[in-house]
Amino acid sequence: MSDEKLTPRNVDFSEWYNQIVQRAEMADYAPVRGCMVVRPYGWALWENIQQALDKRFKETGHVNAAFPLLIPMSFLEKEKEHVEGFSPELAVVTIGGGEKLEEPLVVRPTSETIIGYMYSKWIKSYRDLPVLINQWGNVVRWELRTRLFLRTLEFYWQEGHTAHATEPEAREETMRMLQVYSDFAVNEAAVPVIPGIKSQTEKFAGAHMSTTIEAMMQDTRALQSGTSHFLAQNFARAFNIQFLDENNTLQYAWTTSWGLSTRFIGAIIMTHGDDQGLILPPRLAPIQAVIIPIFKSDLETIAVMEAVDRIQSELKAAGIRVKVDDRTEVTPGFKFNDWEMRGVPLRIEVGPKDIEKGTVALARRDKPGREGKSFVPQTGLAARVAELLKDIQKSMLERATTFRDSHIFEPNDYAELTNIVQNGWTYSWWCDSVDCESKVKEDTKATIRCIPLEQEEGHGKCIVCGKDAKHKVYFARAY
Ligand SMILES: [Zn+2]
Repeated sequence: MSDEKLTPRNVDFSEWYNQIVQRAEMADYAPVRGCMVVRPYGWALWENIQQALDKRFKETGHVNAAFPLLIPMSFLEKEKEHVEGFSPELAVVTIGGGEKLEEPLVVRPTSETIIGYMYSKWIKSYRDLPVLINQWGNVVRWELRTRLFLRTLEFYWQEGHTAHATEPEAREETMRMLQVYSDFAVNEAAVPVIPGIKSQTEKFAGAHMSTTIEAMMQDTRALQSGTSHFLAQNFARAFNIQFLDENNTLQYAWTTSWGLSTRFIGAIIMTHGDDQGLILPPRLAPIQAVIIPIFKSDLETIAVMEAVDRIQSELKAAGIRVKVDDRTEVTPGFKFNDWEMRGVPLRIEVGPKDIEKGTVALARRDKPGREGKSFVPQTGLAARVAELLKDIQKSMLERATTFRDSHIFEPNDYAELTNIVQNGWTYSWWCDSVDCESKVKEDTKATIRCIPLEQEEGHGKCIVCGKDAKHKVYFARAY
């Protein structure tokens, strides 16, 4: 951590992002180009994301399992025959233990195929359904243009794969998991997302329907932050997942898949960060409050550290994730900057004057300067800190929502649309035609982010061609 300032967001957002990821020690570049090392602080954030999601997966009836990293090449070929347009860039193992392999093995780009293969063995009867399995793991896709967290050659994620007896059940599952992602993003990460359905062009190749949560970053570009797919019987046919129904008739199962990855860390950084560094939502922050002792003489040190130890125990007992920064080789000012860079939601300063008065100074990360500062009694501090963390969480969501809503516009005509998407999102009628969708992309690089679930009834005129349209959609440039 150096004293150097970050490149401000309005000067170069992308450079700001790259600097913050490294300076806050979230991740670093690996020796293999395109791979990332997730550092302990970044991983601690990911662990909190995992816990918040895993709890929700289990509450909705899912269980975790682990499938292997290596997949026979033939599985991917089988998938290619059945799923048009599915072509992940693969890493292939051809030598094992010094011997050339009879069949090359693929490092999983997703576990869809191996899970499909296993489901075809496990599922025989309608009594075996539904199967609701999730896996936490890593996958490899040979990406050429990479950025830490946003797009890396190897990344971490969870992938849910479910099989059902009927179409309505599988559709319901798809929407349930979209709702789970949405709830997680809004209530844990304070990232306001718009849940919706992908256009046919933008959907996952193997899916019958893809759904997504879309978030707006502070440069107004969209980030697809989690997806849930209704696969119909596409994969069941490719992998022969069949079961005998109640009438003893052989049926193909209906499947879904859904995933959220370390990319979401990018969403948190770009939704909340400022020119001083990260701002982490309290519910996910690895450290929620940092205590900075301030002292000069030895006598002061004893009194201050006695109070700091007591405060730390009280906060810990109240379930608050707290850390004391007792480094002596750096100044309090350096520590302030350091923890601001790392986005710790609340700073607690304890100095000799506070000891005299029985107080501490609190500084909110989301409101820099005087506005976020308060002086409060040491008595009852744990309850006050807990309240404050809740308030920080709430204001972060409000601020991000206000920012998003003030950058979404309803254009009056196509010319206006092409202007707006340079620095915002548009919300407008679209006639469902691929031609109109591609025209926008060619002219502006903006794509349909989603057809939001919540939208007004009725119809209007397509913003591109003027023909009758039944859906309103968001157009935006995306990561
Ligand atoms: Zn149109």
